[in-house]
Amino acid sequence: MLNGVHYKTNNPVKITFEKDLIASIKLDKTLQTDNMICPGLVDLQINGFKGVDFNEEGLSVDSVVLVTRELWKAGVTSYFPTLITNSDENICATLETIEQACEKHSLIDKTISGIHLEGPFLSSEDGPRGAHPLKHIKAPDWDLLNKWQTIARGRIKMITISPEWPESVNFIKCCRSSGILVAIGHTNANEEQIRNAVQAGARLSTHLGNATHLMLPRHSNYIWEQLASEQLWSSIIADGFHLPPALLKVFLKIKEGQSILVSDSTKFAGLPPGSYSSHIGGAIELNSEGRLFMKDKPKMLAGSARSLLNCIDHLVNSEITSLETALDMASFKPLELLGKHYLYGMEEGKKADLIIFKRVSGKIRLLKTIKAGEVVYKA
Ligand SMILES: [Zn+2]
Repeated sequence: MLNGVHYKTNNPVKITFEKDLIASIKLDKTLQTDNMICPGLVDLQINGFKGVDFNEEGLSVDSVVLVTRELWKAGVTSYFPTLITNSDENICATLETIEQACEKHSLIDKTISGIHLEGPFLSSEDGPRGAHPLKHIKAPDWDLLNKWQTIARGRIKMITISPEWPESVNFIKCCRSSGILVAIGHTNANEEQIRNAVQAGARLSTHLGNATHLMLPRHSNYIWEQLASEQLWSSIIADGFHLPPALLKVFLKIKEGQSILVSDSTKFAGLPPGSYSSHIGGAIELNSEGRLFMKDKPKMLAGSARSLLNCIDHLVNSEITSLETALDMASFKPLELLGKHYLYGMEEGKKADLIIFKRVSGKIRLLKTIKAGEVVYKA
């Protein structure tokens, strides 16, 4: 049983569970509480957390379990470990480890609801390529993806590619027919290539506005084209550092109802402020506000170190969205994009994936996380 204020109706409710489902949600005006209940958070882009990097060599089953448990403490009930551009050997080894972790632990399996491949079929151009290693970038290759999918036992549910490669249209069609969500990202594609990708079935822009050239032609460029597409949703990193407030506001207005939040967190998320070293960036610094940057070039970000909860706080405190909208973009909306919305949400008969929290001085303080009807975190 769970008592709290429904995040959409603002009414006090009592929620009961039966196995992994919500059995009932009953209005109870006698409840005196300011605790809020909303669906568990869903993060489709997690590179690492709490010291564990999915992309470093030698990932172990135990570290996959550790990340998952730490994410429960950050309100996440479903996520996609995200594998960036790497050697074939490393990608195979990582997929194998994640697969083993899921086979071994049923709750881990339920929480890791898919794997996101962000690469290696991205732009080789400096700027859009971001931190993805050039030597491993390649053209979309369906046979290679199939090999990885076999190792992952079908767990690859999402792939970010750049449609500037001539192989893209066929590749996207193959992904769509096998149920893999295709996102456009780290791209130097022209407008026609983006339109063709959308027509072939691409449905999302990965962290729109980031991993781009520093300078772009003002009228014709890949950002406008993706913004203008009615079929494309967008994922955004709303951590307060990756995109300025005005841009966030514009993106969210244009993509109203078609935006999702991703943390894009690196292994430094969830760690205390301090100096660290990264295998990609060298010496980096995490400050007390959660900004992760290069030590010798403090203006340059070294990835994200914030969780979805921090991103929700940022959107609400900057008055960019309401709390309800921010929560939806971090929970229900990603599932809608994946076509799983009929299973989730705060309704009777839906999956009992929920969080209960309080807002204290403009910050969400998580009290409890429930995954498949089980309490997996309690403050
Ligand atoms: Zn990226």
